[in-house]
Parts: sequence; structure tokens; C-alpha cells
Amino acid sequence: MSKYGEHYIHSLKDARSVWLNGRVTDVTTDPHFAGTLSTISSLFDMMDCAENQDKVSEVQHVRGQAQRIHTSFLVPHSQDDLLKRRIAFEAWSRATSGVMSRLSDYARSRITGWYANRSAYDAYDKQFAEKIKTYYETAGVEHRFLTVVQRDPQINRSAGGEVNPEELGLLRITRKTSEGVYVSGGKMIATAAPYSQDLIVFPVAKWGEKEKALASALIVPANSKGLHMICRAGFDSGNVARTDYPLSSAYDEMDAVLIFDDVLIPWERVLLYENPDAVWQFKNDSVANALAYHQAIVRLQVKLEFTVAIGHAIAESIGANQYLHVQEKLGELLMQSETIKGLVIGSESAGKCNDQGIFLPHFSFIETARNLGTTYYPRAIELLQLIGAGGFIQTPSVIADFDGPIGHLLEKYYRGKDVDAVEKTKLFKLAWDLIGSSLGSRHELYERFYAGDPIRNKAAQYMGYDKAALRKMIDLYL
Ligand SMILES: Cc1cc2nc3c(=O)[nH]c(=O)nc-3n(C[C@H](O)[C@H](O)[C@H](O)COP(=O)(O)OP(=O)(O)OC[C@H]3O[C@@H](n4cnc5c(N)ncnc54)[C@H](O)[C@@H]3O)c2cc1C
Repeated sequence: MSKYGEHYIHSLKDARSVWLNGRVTDVTTDPHFAGTLSTISSLFDMMDCAENQDKVSEVQHVRGQAQRIHTSFLVPHSQDDLLKRRIAFEAWSRATSGVMSRLSDYARSRITGWYANRSAYDAYDKQFAEKIKTYYETAGVEHRFLTVVQRDPQINRSAGGEVNPEELGLLRITRKTSEGVYVSGGKMIATAAPYSQDLIVFPVAKWGEKEKALASALIVPANSKGLHMICRAGFDSGNVARTDYPLSSAYDEMDAVLIFDDVLIPWERVLLYENPDAVWQFKNDSVANALAYHQAIVRLQVKLEFTVAIGHAIAESIGANQYLHVQEKLGELLMQSETIKGLVIGSESAGKCNDQGIFLPHFSFIETARNLGTTYYPRAIELLQLIGAGGFIQTPSVIADFDGPIGHLLEKYYRGKDVDAVEKTKLFKLAWDLIGSSLGSRHELYERFYAGDPIRNKAAQYMGYDKAALRKMIDLYL
């Protein structure tokens, strides 16, 4: 283990309150987290290996010193800079087949965007610029692992009437002191929370002056006293063999609900304090969102390419790729991946510098790719099911059975067209882990919802579109 991975793992031994089958005493030694932490650690170590370090990081001068910093912290001032960011996102995504979505490069991109755009907040809060600069530099040099959480607990989503924060479990400031603010309430869903060092927390709703106690932007240390992370069931019990569940055993990025029970957030971590308009700008920040969603669609493309690779390998292994309808399904998988690839490239080549000289990808292309992903990914899973059919559940429970007394029989009945039984079984187990295991189902849900409600996101893309040019096309005939 190199200094980056080792340092990161060690930093998680910090008395954080994580709950999974009871209180987890130490996430770094708990079997549910071991495989994934080893994956994250190896990604951090890319910064230390000659072959990869320039793909994922570069040396920058921060606080008077030359420091190696992950490229997600690079403020792009040119198309080349944007491409460097893509290369870094792609390197981590390819190392995890796009299955790890919240490796902190998404959250780091948001921090980078808020930092780059900090002058836009002067009108709201003069301290914001200094606070975000300090945090941005600290997060970069300390290689901090971050995640973002915005939604409120799913208690009662009906609209209308007076908002009762206590009853709805909304995160709110309850009091302030010279040290900072105290908050109570809940937040969901915080993917990767148990692996994070800091949690970036702000509301998704547009609050008014009356509800300003709900409208702050906070960076919460993951080991804050009174903060509890309630994990869903783990996909890796620690007894799962890599060969039987290759994805669950290494890529369980974990999702958690955060419960804040009178948690102190120091003032330097309170980026915006009870300021509804500023927090609304923070949530919709065009720089932060463009940089973060760029990461999200680069990762999505790699994952869709992975579905093509799996579909092709499965069809070939059972000889089904000779059928026209199977070829058509493989073609559709490929088209989905290529469409997103085209949109990634398009967003970069149609990118422009904004009025502060920050080079941003073309947002409409990014938004299109992100919104397409919510239907493309579930469709990819459906297509894989139609191609592999019963083969996915026909595998023996463990690969180790091939070494047992009936191994010779398994060799005969589990082989494929031009592939031996062990290799074919491993392939189908890999595919099942993506499409049917608990991890697989979670991923389908993730791709539908991670960026918010897909229905409202698509409607928002239409509502936000400049429709004047469309009108001109009609006016030609009227
Ligand atoms: C696996 C996974 C990981 C996630 N990770 C993160 C993360 O790391 N960080 C983060 O911030 N978020 C994360 N999300 C949360 C994501 O932002 C939300 O799931 C998404 O915004 C939808 O909100 P909700 O789940 O609360 O659904 P709800 O808002 O409760 O929606 C439930 C249903 O009610 C409908 N509905 C609710 N309100 C309205 C309304 N006002 N108008 C019309 N229809 C309505 C919805 O369309 C939907 O059908 C994650 C989600 C998943 C599934």
C-alpha cells in the first residue's frame, strides 16, 4: 500500500458512528467494508504509481508548496484542462467498470466549481469566498474523500400547508454559539458516507425567509459527535468470494441515512448560514453542476460500455449471437453506450469559457446524457436479461464446486459453445452480479434516481430550454 491509500484508510479510524447490523466499531476492519475500502485505497494509490499518476493527478502549487493533487480539483481554463479532468474520471471509472459512482470525484468537482465561482456569492455573504477557498485547498492537499447529500427523509412528501421541520425530520439549525451552529434532523441518501471524511450537506428545496433555519450549506466532518450513519444491508458480508460476486465483494459503495442529533458544525464549515437565496444559488451553481455532471456522464458511459462487453461475451459463450434478434439487442446496447460517448465528446468540444475564464462543458449535452441514463441503464439490464435468459441462475452456488467430487460433471454440463465450464460460470456470475444480485438491483435504482426525480429532471430540461429558436421554425409557416 502506498502513502495515499494507507493514509486514507487510517483516517477512517476516527470513532465515527456507523450502523450496520449494530454499531460498527471500526469501518476499516469490518468485513462489510473491507473489499470496497481496498478498492478505494488502490484508486488513491494510482497517484503514486508512475504509469497512472499523471492520468489522475498533477502537481499544483498550493499554499506555497508543490503538491500532488487529484485532477477533480483542477479548475479548467481551457479545453485541454477539461480533457485532463475527463481522463482522470475515466481512469477511476475504468478501474471499477463504472460501478463505483461516488468515489468522491463527483463531490470534489462540486467543491471545485463553488471555489471557481466564489465571487458570485459576494452579494450574499462576504465570508463565503474565503471559507470555500480554505476548504478547497485543504480538501485538495489532504486528498479528502467527500460525498454530497441533499434530500430530506422520506416521511411525508405531500405538498401544501405549513412546514413543520420537527415532524418532517428536516435538517435545521437549532442554535448558534461562538464555536459554530448546532443542527438536528435527517438527510438521505448519502452514498459512500461510511467511506467519507466530509459530508457536503445542503437542502434541495427552495426555502423562504420564514424557513431560513433550513437553508444553510454545511461541510460536516464524518466523525462529528451526534452524527449517525444508518447503512442499508451490506452486499459484501466478508464471506463472499471474489469469483462468485466479483462486483459485490469489491464495489459496495454503500448508502446511508444521516441522523444529526444535536451536531456542532464549526463556523469555518458553515459555508452559508440561514440564507435561502444564496443556498438556492449554491444548489443550482452552473459551474459546480457542470463540472460534477461531467464526471457523472463519463462514469455512466463506462458503465454502459461494460453492459455491452457483458452482453457480447454472454451471447458468444452460448452461441446466441448468430440470431438476428440477439444481434439487434447487442446493437441497441452499443448504441446506448455510443450515444453517451458522443454527448461526452460533444459537451467538451462545444464547451466554452464563461465570463470568469472557466472552461465549462456544454450543459445541455450533459443534461441530455444524464437524463438519458435514467432510461438507458434499466433498458441495458432488460436487454442483458433477454440475451442471457435462464443462464444467469443456472450457475452453481460457488465456483469452488468445480474442485469438488462432482467437478468433472460440472465441467461437462456447464461448458459453453467455445468456452470451458469454469470460465463460462465466472462470466455468468459476473453478469448476475450486475443485473440480478442485491448490488445489481441497487444499481438500477441508483441510475434512475441518483440525480433526482427523473420525471422532474426531464421536465426541467424542457422548461429551462431556450425555446425562441424553436418558435422561429414554426413562424416560417405562420
Ligand atoms: C441508490 C441511490 C443512491 C443515492 N445517493 C444519493 C447521494 O449520494 N446523495 C444525494 O443527495 N442523493 C442521493 N440519492 C437520492 C436521490 O437524490 C433521490 O432518490 C431522488 O432525488 C428522488 O427523491 P426521493 O428518493 O426522496 O423520492 P421522492 O421524492 O420521495 O419520490 C417518491 C415518488 O413520489 C413522486 N413525487 C414526490 N414528490 C413529488 C412532487 N413534488 N411532484 C411530483 N412527484 C413527486 C416521485 O416522482 C416518486 O414517484 C440516491 C438515490 C438512490 C436510489
